Amino acid sequence: METGFDQAPWVDEDVAAFGDAMRRVIEREFVPHEARWAAQQHVDRDVWRTAGHVGMLCASIPQAYGGGGGTFAHEAILTAECSRHLVSGFGNGVHSGIVAHYLLHYGTEDQKQRWLPRMATGELVAAIAMSEPGAGSDLRAIRTRARRQGDTYVVDGAKTFITNGWLANLVCVVVKTDPDAGSRGISLLMIETDDAPGFRRGRLLEKLGQKGQDTAELFFDGVQVPAENLLGGIEGKGLGQLMQQLPQERLIIAVGAVASMFKAVELTQAYTAQRDVFGQPLLSLQNTRFTLAECLTKAHLARTFVNECVVDLLAGRLDPARAAMAKWWSTQAQCEVIDACLQLHGGYGYMMEYPIARMYANARVSRIYGGSNEIMKELIARTLQPS
Ligand SMILES: Cc1cc2nc3c(=O)[nH]c(=O)nc-3n(C[C@H](O)[C@H](O)[C@H](O)COP(=O)(O)OP(=O)(O)OC[C@H]3O[C@@H](n4cnc5c(N)ncnc54)[C@H](O)[C@@H]3O)c2cc1C
Repeated sequence: METGFDQAPWVDEDVAAFGDAMRRVIEREFVPHEARWAAQQHVDRDVWRTAGHVGMLCASIPQAYGGGGGTFAHEAILTAECSRHLVSGFGNGVHSGIVAHYLLHYGTEDQKQRWLPRMATGELVAAIAMSEPGAGSDLRAIRTRARRQGDTYVVDGAKTFITNGWLANLVCVVVKTDPDAGSRGISLLMIETDDAPGFRRGRLLEKLGQKGQDTAELFFDGVQVPAENLLGGIEGKGLGQLMQQLPQERLIIAVGAVASMFKAVELTQAYTAQRDVFGQPLLSLQNTRFTLAECLTKAHLARTFVNECVVDLLAGRLDPARAAMAKWWSTQAQCEVIDACLQLHGGYGYMMEYPIARMYANARVSRIYGGSNEIMKELIARTLQPS
Protein backbone atom coordinates (compact mmCIF):
# COMPACT_ATOMS: atom_id res chain seq x y z
CA MET A 1 0.00 0.00 0.00
CA GLU A 2 3.08 2.26 0.24
CA THR A 3 2.29 5.78 1.51
CA GLY A 4 -1.15 5.96 -0.08
CA PHE A 5 0.09 8.78 -2.33
CA ASP A 6 1.94 6.76 -4.94
CA GLN A 7 -0.53 7.58 -7.71
CA ALA A 8 -1.30 11.11 -6.46
CA PRO A 9 -1.55 13.79 -9.15
CA TRP A 10 1.16 15.85 -7.42
CA VAL A 11 3.68 12.98 -7.33
CA ASP A 12 5.62 13.32 -10.57
CA GLU A 13 8.78 11.40 -11.46
CA ASP A 14 11.03 13.74 -9.54
CA VAL A 15 8.90 13.72 -6.38
CA ALA A 16 8.59 9.91 -6.55
CA ALA A 17 12.37 9.52 -6.93
CA PHE A 18 12.92 11.86 -3.98
CA GLY A 19 10.40 9.87 -1.92
CA ASP A 20 12.17 6.59 -2.79
CA ALA A 21 15.57 7.99 -1.83
CA MET A 22 14.22 9.39 1.44
CA ARG A 23 12.50 6.09 2.25
CA ARG A 24 15.86 4.33 2.09
CA VAL A 25 17.41 6.94 4.39
CA ILE A 26 14.51 6.67 6.83
CA GLU A 27 14.80 2.89 6.94
CA ARG A 28 18.57 3.07 7.46
CA GLU A 29 19.11 6.13 9.65
CA PHE A 30 15.82 6.66 11.51
CA VAL A 31 13.76 3.51 12.05
CA PRO A 32 16.50 1.59 13.94
CA HIS A 33 16.83 4.46 16.44
CA GLU A 34 13.18 5.37 17.08
CA ALA A 35 12.88 3.34 20.30
CA ARG A 36 16.04 4.84 21.78
CA TRP A 37 14.98 8.32 20.73
CA ALA A 38 11.59 7.75 22.35
CA ALA A 39 13.31 6.77 25.60
CA GLN A 40 15.53 9.87 25.64
CA GLN A 41 12.69 12.07 24.29
CA HIS A 42 14.72 13.56 21.48
CA VAL A 43 16.48 12.48 18.33
CA ASP A 44 20.29 12.49 18.27
CA ARG A 45 21.65 15.89 17.25
CA ASP A 46 23.76 14.17 14.57
CA VAL A 47 20.74 12.96 12.66
CA TRP A 48 20.05 16.55 11.65
CA ARG A 49 23.45 16.74 9.98
CA THR A 50 22.91 13.35 8.34
CA ALA A 51 19.55 14.60 7.06
CA GLY A 52 21.23 17.72 5.72
CA HIS A 53 23.89 15.65 4.01
CA VAL A 54 21.37 13.50 2.12
CA GLY A 55 19.17 16.42 1.02
CA MET A 56 16.31 15.80 3.43
CA LEU A 57 16.35 19.33 4.90
CA CYS A 58 14.90 22.34 3.11
CA ALA A 59 13.92 20.20 0.12
CA SER A 60 11.46 22.87 -1.01
CA ILE A 61 13.87 25.80 -0.70
CA PRO A 62 15.68 27.12 -3.81
CA GLN A 63 19.17 25.80 -4.44
CA ALA A 64 20.47 29.38 -4.32
CA TYR A 65 19.86 29.21 -0.56
CA GLY A 66 21.29 25.74 -0.12
CA GLY A 67 17.96 23.91 -0.45
CA GLY A 68 16.90 21.08 -2.74
CA GLY A 69 15.08 23.28 -5.25
CA GLY A 70 11.85 21.29 -4.91
CA THR A 71 8.31 22.24 -3.98
CA PHE A 72 5.74 21.57 -1.29
CA ALA A 73 5.25 18.18 -2.96
CA HIS A 74 8.73 17.15 -1.80
CA GLU A 75 7.93 18.10 1.80
CA ALA A 76 4.61 16.27 1.53
CA ILE A 77 6.06 12.99 0.24
CA LEU A 78 8.74 13.12 2.93
CA THR A 79 6.07 13.61 5.60
CA ALA A 80 4.11 10.68 4.19
CA GLU A 81 7.20 8.45 4.27
CA CYS A 82 7.96 9.41 7.88
CA SER A 83 4.35 8.80 8.84
CA ARG A 84 4.28 5.41 7.12
CA HIS A 85 7.46 4.38 8.94
CA LEU A 86 6.15 5.64 12.30
CA VAL A 87 9.01 8.10 12.50
CA SER A 88 7.43 10.70 14.74
CA GLY A 89 10.51 12.12 16.43
CA PHE A 90 12.06 14.10 13.62
CA GLY A 91 10.74 17.67 13.58
CA ASN A 92 11.60 18.39 9.99
CA GLY A 93 8.08 19.58 9.23
CA VAL A 94 8.66 22.56 11.50
CA HIS A 95 12.27 23.09 10.35
CA SER A 96 11.87 22.79 6.57
CA GLY A 97 8.14 23.07 6.06
CA ILE A 98 7.50 26.06 8.31
CA VAL A 99 10.48 28.09 9.53
CA ALA A 100 12.42 27.85 6.25
CA HIS A 101 9.35 29.15 4.43
CA TYR A 102 8.90 32.09 6.79
CA LEU A 103 12.46 33.04 5.92
CA LEU A 104 12.00 32.43 2.21
CA HIS A 105 8.79 34.44 1.95
CA TYR A 106 9.35 37.23 4.43
CA GLY A 107 13.08 37.37 5.13
CA THR A 108 15.32 40.05 3.72
CA GLU A 109 17.97 38.86 1.27
CA ASP A 110 20.54 39.08 4.04
CA GLN A 111 18.39 36.98 6.38
CA LYS A 112 17.85 34.29 3.75
CA GLN A 113 21.57 34.10 3.00
CA ARG A 114 22.44 34.08 6.68
CA TRP A 115 20.17 31.27 7.85
CA LEU A 116 18.76 29.11 5.05
CA PRO A 117 22.04 27.48 3.91
CA ARG A 118 22.90 26.59 7.52
CA MET A 119 19.41 25.15 8.01
CA ALA A 120 19.85 23.05 4.87
CA THR A 121 23.03 21.43 6.22
CA GLY A 122 21.63 20.83 9.70
CA GLU A 123 24.11 23.22 11.30
CA LEU A 124 21.04 25.08 12.52
CA VAL A 125 17.95 23.32 13.85
CA ALA A 126 14.91 25.56 13.67
CA ALA A 127 11.81 25.90 15.84
CA ILE A 128 8.80 28.18 15.86
CA ALA A 129 7.78 29.53 19.23
CA MET A 130 4.21 30.84 19.27
CA SER A 131 2.52 29.10 22.20
CA GLU A 132 2.92 30.31 25.75
CA PRO A 133 1.74 28.93 29.09
CA GLY A 134 -1.22 31.34 28.94
CA ALA A 135 -1.88 31.55 25.19
CA GLY A 136 -2.17 28.88 22.50
CA SER A 137 -5.24 29.19 20.28
CA ASP A 138 -5.53 32.89 21.08
CA LEU A 139 -2.25 34.20 19.75
CA ARG A 140 -3.22 37.81 20.31
CA ALA A 141 -2.91 37.08 24.03
CA ILE A 142 0.82 36.30 23.95
CA ARG A 143 2.93 38.21 26.46
CA THR A 144 6.49 37.72 25.21
CA ARG A 145 7.79 41.21 24.71
CA ALA A 146 10.57 42.59 22.49
CA ARG A 147 11.61 46.16 23.40
CA ARG A 148 13.70 48.09 20.92
CA GLN A 149 16.85 49.62 22.46
CA GLY A 150 19.08 51.15 19.83
CA ASP A 151 20.28 48.42 17.48
CA THR A 152 18.90 45.57 19.56
CA TYR A 153 15.66 44.09 20.83
CA VAL A 154 15.52 42.96 24.44
CA VAL A 155 13.28 39.91 24.72
CA ASP A 156 11.44 38.74 27.85
CA GLY A 157 8.93 35.93 28.01
CA ALA A 158 8.20 32.23 28.14
CA LYS A 159 7.16 29.76 25.45
CA THR A 160 5.92 26.21 25.84
CA PHE A 161 5.17 23.08 23.79
CA ILE A 162 7.91 24.02 21.32
CA THR A 163 8.72 21.28 18.82
CA ASN A 164 12.51 20.93 18.36
CA GLY A 165 12.79 23.16 21.42
CA TRP A 166 15.47 21.02 23.07
CA LEU A 167 17.86 20.93 20.11
CA ALA A 168 16.95 24.11 18.24
CA ASN A 169 19.54 26.85 17.85
CA LEU A 170 17.47 29.09 15.58
CA VAL A 171 14.07 29.99 16.97
CA CYS A 172 11.45 32.05 15.19
CA VAL A 173 9.85 33.72 18.20
CA VAL A 174 6.44 35.37 18.11
CA VAL A 175 6.79 38.56 20.15
CA LYS A 176 4.89 41.72 20.93
CA THR A 177 6.79 44.72 19.69
CA ASP A 178 3.90 47.05 20.55
CA PRO A 179 1.48 45.72 23.20
CA ASP A 180 -0.97 48.57 22.56
CA ALA A 181 -1.36 47.91 18.85
CA GLY A 182 -3.41 44.67 19.05
CA SER A 183 -2.68 42.27 16.23
CA ARG A 184 -0.54 44.94 14.54
CA GLY A 185 1.82 44.80 17.50
CA ILE A 186 2.94 41.22 16.83
CA SER A 187 6.25 40.49 15.09
CA LEU A 188 8.47 37.51 14.33
CA LEU A 189 12.02 37.68 15.65
CA MET A 190 14.70 35.19 14.64
CA ILE A 191 16.87 34.30 17.64
CA GLU A 192 20.10 32.33 17.41
CA THR A 193 20.24 30.68 20.79
CA ASP A 194 23.86 29.47 20.92
CA ASP A 195 25.70 31.78 23.31
CA ALA A 196 22.64 33.97 23.90
CA PRO A 197 22.80 35.21 27.51
CA GLY A 198 19.36 35.17 29.14
CA PHE A 199 18.09 32.32 26.99
CA ARG A 200 17.45 28.98 28.65
CA ARG A 201 15.51 25.83 28.02
CA GLY A 202 13.07 24.61 30.65
CA ARG A 203 11.73 21.09 30.81
CA LEU A 204 11.87 18.57 28.02
CA LEU A 205 8.17 17.76 28.16
CA GLU A 206 7.01 14.18 28.55
CA LYS A 207 4.23 13.50 26.06
CA LEU A 208 1.53 10.90 25.47
CA GLY A 209 2.93 10.04 22.04
CA GLN A 210 5.47 11.23 19.48
CA LYS A 211 7.94 10.39 22.21
CA GLY A 212 11.12 10.92 20.23
CA GLN A 213 10.20 14.48 19.30
CA ASP A 214 11.76 17.05 21.59
CA THR A 215 9.06 19.34 22.85
CA ALA A 216 10.32 21.88 25.33
CA GLU A 217 9.79 25.06 27.29
CA LEU A 218 11.88 28.09 26.34
CA PHE A 219 12.61 31.12 28.50
CA PHE A 220 13.88 34.52 27.48
CA ASP A 221 15.12 36.80 30.25
CA GLY A 222 16.47 40.02 28.80
CA VAL A 223 17.91 38.30 25.71
CA GLN A 224 19.59 40.84 23.44
CA VAL A 225 18.85 40.23 19.78
CA PRO A 226 20.24 42.31 16.90
CA ALA A 227 17.44 44.45 15.41
CA GLU A 228 18.40 43.10 11.98
CA ASN A 229 16.93 39.73 13.12
CA LEU A 230 13.37 41.06 12.87
CA LEU A 231 11.83 38.94 10.12
CA GLY A 232 11.36 41.11 7.06
CA GLY A 233 12.68 44.16 8.91
CA ILE A 234 9.30 45.78 9.63
CA GLU A 235 7.52 45.58 12.98
CA GLY A 236 3.88 44.48 13.33
CA LYS A 237 3.72 42.07 10.40
CA GLY A 238 3.89 38.86 12.48
CA LEU A 239 0.24 37.84 12.63
CA GLY A 240 -0.26 38.31 8.90
CA GLN A 241 2.89 36.31 8.19
CA LEU A 242 1.68 33.49 10.43
CA MET A 243 -1.78 33.44 8.87
CA GLN A 244 -0.41 33.20 5.34
CA GLN A 245 1.86 30.24 6.10
CA LEU A 246 -0.51 28.24 8.30
CA PRO A 247 -2.41 26.56 5.41
CA GLN A 248 0.83 24.88 4.37
CA GLU A 249 1.46 23.66 7.92
CA ARG A 250 -2.08 22.33 8.14
CA LEU A 251 -1.83 20.48 4.88
CA ILE A 252 1.39 18.80 6.01
CA ILE A 253 -0.50 17.49 9.05
CA ALA A 254 -3.32 16.27 6.79
CA VAL A 255 -0.86 14.46 4.50
CA GLY A 256 0.66 12.68 7.51
CA ALA A 257 -2.83 11.73 8.71
CA VAL A 258 -3.75 10.13 5.38
CA ALA A 259 -0.50 8.14 5.21
CA SER A 260 -1.02 6.86 8.72
CA MET A 261 -4.60 5.75 7.97
CA PHE A 262 -3.38 3.61 5.08
CA LYS A 263 -0.63 2.23 7.29
CA ALA A 264 -3.09 1.35 10.06
CA VAL A 265 -5.30 -0.58 7.64
CA GLU A 266 -2.29 -2.39 6.18
CA LEU A 267 -1.02 -3.40 9.63
CA THR A 268 -4.46 -4.53 10.79
CA GLN A 269 -5.18 -6.53 7.67
CA ALA A 270 -1.89 -8.41 8.18
CA TYR A 271 -2.52 -8.90 11.90
CA THR A 272 -6.09 -10.16 11.55
CA ALA A 273 -5.13 -12.51 8.71
CA GLN A 274 -2.78 -14.45 10.98
CA ARG A 275 -4.79 -14.24 14.22
CA ASP A 276 -7.19 -17.15 14.65
CA VAL A 277 -10.38 -16.80 16.71
CA PHE A 278 -12.94 -19.57 17.11
CA GLY A 279 -11.13 -21.69 14.55
CA GLN A 280 -10.89 -19.13 11.77
CA PRO A 281 -8.79 -16.10 10.89
CA LEU A 282 -10.04 -12.91 12.53
CA LEU A 283 -9.99 -11.34 9.09
CA SER A 284 -12.67 -13.71 7.85
CA LEU A 285 -15.27 -12.39 10.34
CA GLN A 286 -17.74 -9.97 8.83
CA ASN A 287 -17.16 -7.43 11.60
CA THR A 288 -13.44 -7.32 10.82
CA ARG A 289 -14.01 -7.04 7.09
CA PHE A 290 -16.66 -4.33 7.44
CA THR A 291 -14.58 -2.37 9.95
CA LEU A 292 -11.57 -2.45 7.62
CA ALA A 293 -13.81 -1.57 4.69
CA GLU A 294 -15.02 1.51 6.58
CA CYS A 295 -11.46 2.47 7.52
CA LEU A 296 -10.26 2.12 3.96
CA THR A 297 -13.17 4.21 2.72
CA LYS A 298 -12.25 7.02 5.14
CA ALA A 299 -8.61 6.85 4.05
CA HIS A 300 -9.61 7.11 0.38
CA LEU A 301 -12.00 10.00 1.01
CA ALA A 302 -9.41 11.91 2.98
CA ARG A 303 -6.76 11.27 0.35
CA THR A 304 -8.97 12.52 -2.47
CA PHE A 305 -9.60 15.83 -0.75
CA VAL A 306 -6.02 16.22 0.49
CA ASN A 307 -4.74 15.55 -3.03
CA GLU A 308 -6.99 18.31 -4.34
CA CYS A 309 -5.67 20.67 -1.67
CA VAL A 310 -2.03 19.83 -2.42
CA VAL A 311 -2.56 20.46 -6.14
CA ASP A 312 -4.22 23.78 -5.33
CA LEU A 313 -1.50 24.78 -2.88
CA LEU A 314 1.14 24.09 -5.53
CA ALA A 315 -0.86 26.26 -7.93
CA GLY A 316 -1.09 29.04 -5.32
CA ARG A 317 -4.89 28.86 -4.96
CA LEU A 318 -5.49 26.99 -1.69
CA ASP A 319 -7.65 29.12 0.59
CA PRO A 320 -7.27 28.93 4.40
CA ALA A 321 -10.76 27.46 4.89
CA ARG A 322 -10.11 24.40 2.73
CA ALA A 323 -6.72 23.87 4.39
CA ALA A 324 -8.58 23.94 7.71
CA MET A 325 -11.15 21.42 6.38
CA ALA A 326 -8.37 19.09 5.27
CA LYS A 327 -6.66 19.36 8.64
CA TRP A 328 -9.66 18.77 10.90
CA TRP A 329 -11.38 16.12 8.85
CA SER A 330 -8.37 13.99 8.07
CA THR A 331 -7.00 14.10 11.63
CA GLN A 332 -10.44 13.22 13.04
CA ALA A 333 -10.67 10.34 10.56
CA GLN A 334 -7.09 9.32 11.42
CA CYS A 335 -7.97 8.97 15.10
CA GLU A 336 -11.18 7.05 14.32
CA VAL A 337 -9.44 4.68 11.92
CA ILE A 338 -6.52 3.97 14.24
CA ASP A 339 -8.88 3.43 17.17
CA ALA A 340 -10.94 0.91 15.16
CA CYS A 341 -7.75 -0.84 13.98
CA LEU A 342 -6.41 -0.99 17.53
CA GLN A 343 -9.66 -2.62 18.66
CA LEU A 344 -9.17 -5.37 16.08
CA HIS A 345 -5.79 -6.14 17.64
CA GLY A 346 -7.45 -6.96 20.98
CA GLY A 347 -5.09 -6.80 23.97
CA TYR A 348 -2.07 -6.72 21.70
CA GLY A 349 -3.29 -3.40 20.40
CA TYR A 350 -2.72 -1.94 23.84
CA MET A 351 0.90 -3.08 23.99
CA MET A 352 3.48 -0.51 22.96
CA GLU A 353 5.54 -3.14 21.17
CA TYR A 354 2.76 -3.25 18.57
CA PRO A 355 2.95 -0.40 16.06
CA ILE A 356 -0.79 0.24 16.21
CA ALA A 357 -0.47 1.20 19.91
CA ARG A 358 2.26 3.72 19.10
CA MET A 359 0.22 5.06 16.19
CA TYR A 360 -2.74 5.55 18.54
CA ALA A 361 -0.63 7.60 20.93
CA ASN A 362 1.12 9.51 18.15
CA ALA A 363 -2.10 10.44 16.36
CA ARG A 364 -3.95 12.11 19.21
CA VAL A 365 -2.05 15.37 19.08
CA SER A 366 -2.88 15.94 15.43
CA ARG A 367 -6.33 17.16 16.51
CA ILE A 368 -4.69 19.65 18.90
CA TYR A 369 -1.62 21.19 17.30
CA GLY A 370 -1.26 23.18 14.10
CA GLY A 371 -4.37 24.99 15.30
CA SER A 372 -6.85 22.79 17.19
CA ASN A 373 -9.69 21.21 15.23
CA GLU A 374 -12.15 23.52 16.98
CA ILE A 375 -10.20 26.52 15.69
CA MET A 376 -10.28 24.91 12.20
CA LYS A 377 -14.07 24.80 12.37
CA GLU A 378 -14.14 28.40 13.54
CA LEU A 379 -12.07 29.41 10.49
CA ILE A 380 -14.37 27.48 8.15
CA ALA A 381 -17.51 28.89 9.81
CA ARG A 382 -16.26 32.44 9.24
CA THR A 383 -16.67 31.91 5.49
CA LEU A 384 -20.40 31.23 5.87
CA GLN A 385 -22.42 34.13 4.55
CA PRO A 386 -25.71 35.15 6.19
CA SER A 387 -28.59 34.24 3.83
C1 LIG B 1 3.20 17.91 20.81
C2 LIG B 1 2.92 19.37 20.61
C3 LIG B 1 3.78 20.11 19.80
C4 LIG B 1 3.57 21.48 19.64
N1 LIG B 1 4.46 22.22 18.89
C5 LIG B 1 4.35 23.57 18.91
C6 LIG B 1 5.36 24.39 18.30
O1 LIG B 1 6.34 23.89 17.72
N2 LIG B 1 5.24 25.74 18.39
C7 LIG B 1 4.18 26.33 19.02
O2 LIG B 1 4.15 27.54 19.07
N3 LIG B 1 3.21 25.58 19.58
C8 LIG B 1 3.27 24.24 19.56
N4 LIG B 1 2.29 23.47 20.16
C9 LIG B 1 1.18 24.14 20.80
C10 LIG B 1 -0.15 23.97 20.05
O3 LIG B 1 -0.14 24.71 18.87
C11 LIG B 1 -1.26 24.37 21.03
O4 LIG B 1 -1.31 23.37 22.03
C12 LIG B 1 -2.61 24.51 20.36
O5 LIG B 1 -2.62 25.61 19.47
C13 LIG B 1 -3.74 24.70 21.38
O6 LIG B 1 -3.41 25.72 22.27
P1 LIG B 1 -3.50 25.46 23.85
O7 LIG B 1 -2.78 24.20 24.15
O8 LIG B 1 -3.06 26.69 24.55
O9 LIG B 1 -5.03 25.19 24.12
P2 LIG B 1 -6.15 26.32 24.38
O10 LIG B 1 -6.00 27.40 23.40
O11 LIG B 1 -6.18 26.65 25.82
O12 LIG B 1 -7.47 25.48 24.02
C14 LIG B 1 -8.06 24.54 24.93
C15 LIG B 1 -9.29 23.96 24.25
O13 LIG B 1 -10.22 25.00 23.96
C16 LIG B 1 -10.56 24.99 22.60
N5 LIG B 1 -10.77 26.36 22.11
C17 LIG B 1 -9.92 27.41 22.22
N6 LIG B 1 -10.43 28.50 21.63
C18 LIG B 1 -11.63 28.12 21.13
C19 LIG B 1 -12.66 28.79 20.38
N7 LIG B 1 -12.53 30.07 20.02
N8 LIG B 1 -13.77 28.10 20.04
C20 LIG B 1 -13.90 26.79 20.39
N9 LIG B 1 -12.97 26.10 21.09
C21 LIG B 1 -11.85 26.76 21.44
C22 LIG B 1 -9.39 24.32 21.91
O14 LIG B 1 -9.75 23.77 20.65
C23 LIG B 1 -8.99 23.28 22.92
O15 LIG B 1 -9.79 22.14 22.74
C24 LIG B 1 2.45 22.10 20.27
C25 LIG B 1 1.59 21.33 21.06
C26 LIG B 1 1.81 19.99 21.24
C27 LIG B 1 0.88 19.21 22.12
